[in-house]
Amino acid sequence: MSDPWRYRCPEGHTSIVRRAHGGYRCQSCDAEYDADPVDAKSGRGDSDAEPVTPIPTMTAASRLWDATGDTPKTIHARDISPVPVAMAAALKRAAERGLAERVETSTSRADRWRATEKAAFLGADAGSGVEA
Ligand SMILES: [Zn+2]
Repeated sequence: MSDPWRYRCPEGHTSIVRRAHGGYRCQSCDAEYDADPVDAKSGRGDSDAEPVTPIPTMTAASRLWDATGDTPKTIHARDISPVPVAMAAALKRAAERGLAERVETSTSRADRWRATEKAAFLGADAGSGVEA
């Protein structure tokens, strides 16, 4: 018996397909996960799981720079990605490399982010973000 609404990827999508060898594929994310899906009924599962092919750290840092540049502006991961949980994980890695920083706010549960000056070189990167 299956409850199609019950199991979700970390982004909250329910269009997941179990893989025979463990883990699952989310058709909405278009990504595979090695973890257990989140069970909406019991609360079990890995809600912090990253896709098997995670968002590259530099891609996250570059998108963040495009969005905030060298300004006090901050954004949520969802502002720069349709898969905000995966993006937040990538932004955390960018922060460990000094390219991004998490901004504490008391009003919002979701983390806000901005690029650091160290990420400025990403803006000069062959017009990245100019067309987007
Ligand atoms: Zn998904």
